[in-house]
Amino acid sequence: MSRAIAVYDTSLRDGAQAEDISFSVEDKLKVIRALASLGVGYIEAGNPGSNPKDLEFFRVFDPSAFPTVKFAAFGSTRRRKVTAEEDVNVRALLTAGTPVVAIFGKSWDFHVRQIIKAGLDENLEMIRDTVAFFKSRGKEVVFDAEHFFDGAKSDADYAFKTLEAALDGGADWLVLCETNGGAFPDEVAAFTRKAVERFNVPIGIHCHDDGGMAVANSLLAVEAGATQIQGTFLGFGERCGNANLSAVIPNLQLKRGYSCIPPENMSLLTLTARYIADVSNLGLNKRLPFVGDSAFAHKGGMHVDGVVKNSASFEHVDPAIVGNERRILMSEVSGRSAVLAKMRNIMPDLAKDSPETQAVVDRVKELEHQGYQFEAADGSFELMVRKHLGKFRPFFKLERFQVSAGRHNGTDGPAASATIKIVVDGREEISAAEGNGPIDALDRALRKALDVFFPVLRDVRLTDFKVRVLNPAEATAARVRVLLESTDGRDHWTTVGVSADIIEAGAIALVDAIEFKLLKDITRTYRAFL
Ligand SMILES: [Zn+2]
Repeated sequence: MSRAIAVYDTSLRDGAQAEDISFSVEDKLKVIRALASLGVGYIEAGNPGSNPKDLEFFRVFDPSAFPTVKFAAFGSTRRRKVTAEEDVNVRALLTAGTPVVAIFGKSWDFHVRQIIKAGLDENLEMIRDTVAFFKSRGKEVVFDAEHFFDGAKSDADYAFKTLEAALDGGADWLVLCETNGGAFPDEVAAFTRKAVERFNVPIGIHCHDDGGMAVANSLLAVEAGATQIQGTFLGFGERCGNANLSAVIPNLQLKRGYSCIPPENMSLLTLTARYIADVSNLGLNKRLPFVGDSAFAHKGGMHVDGVVKNSASFEHVDPAIVGNERRILMSEVSGRSAVLAKMRNIMPDLAKDSPETQAVVDRVKELEHQGYQFEAADGSFELMVRKHLGKFRPFFKLERFQVSAGRHNGTDGPAASATIKIVVDGREEISAAEGNGPIDALDRALRKALDVFFPVLRDVRLTDFKVRVLNPAEATAARVRVLLESTDGRDHWTTVGVSADIIEAGAIALVDAIEFKLLKDITRTYRAFL
């Protein structure tokens, strides 16, 4: 039997402390839905004592909609010289109405003396009283021993006394917090092992990432016997953030056989990460382990060749297990293997030496010679392959377009306008739009015309636009390459256009961007939480 690890997500409390993050009530509900679907056992949803927004959230929140999750509210031990019952923060914590409360108390003698200026014994009483108060109200109490590891290095005897005080109060969990984020894995493992040996209540771990070691520290704490992992789903949190659960969970479950979430949910990991990044209004860091866009992206020729022969050659896990995808980045150096790997996404049975493969390889060479580069333009590449294999039917035809650009004296208004004509299944549509620059005007006009036929395009927006002037040796005129990056809030894709005319190059990339969105929506199914 694999050892069960309680996953305790604090994205909505510790994560909300991060720079650039501000959750509305609606955002919090979305994050909760995503974490609940994934099978996270504990969600710390806020700090009602110090944050009025969190207090309001708990007032309207109905936890019964999520029967598989235990919700926690977070707050501190009572202040000095008042009883727990009299303390306003303690009372606010009670009004949150959660079955679990997380109480943090000081475990570092330096903090007790210098920061809250309490006596060492007085601090122990504050911990014991507060925990006992919540136990008398029937709560499951998680004691977060703040700065436990710094405390243990400074005065181990006292740090362990704070755990004892919480235990005397009846704490259900003793969570060792690596609050300043500077400890090393061996230190975390050693002190965690001591706590596990000494106490017979379950031990948890809460790590910050200031030394870049929060994930490693969390894993070693579990190996030393901890059975609760606290962290934030994408690692965001104060300063450098918290232990990144989207890496901790698969590491523990796939590599070491612990049980963190139901195994059948592991394939939701990447989608959950994308979704939470989106709700948090931060793009998903593409280099995140397991869930990032680049986590299984292969570019170098030998790497691509290896992965095509046997994916284990350059992948530590199968991307499908965590719901991610292998991406083969195109470049001249990777040649036929890369082209073949991409083609197999579309036609799985294709042989390396088949005439279709040869035809596409030749076509890629020809286009690269013209100045195309598919390395970062997956969208255009897939369309090109499909067109070449006769596996694509255009959704629309851009019959003609006209763009005028200039400068409006004395105003900040849009300085470009576009008129276009498209045909969809024999129906013509003409539209015009203004924009900030010719590509923007063209994009607006195009989507205005297509809106009647494809309302899904309303979610699409351009996120990046790069222009590169090309100088192929034998070129008679300078050509430009335009790369457009688009998103529909769920996926990102890049398309490319090359022409002697920058607007024509932009129009090619734009048409590809829209066709790729329509293609992806009909050929792939995406599970949504909502
Ligand atoms: Zn923290």
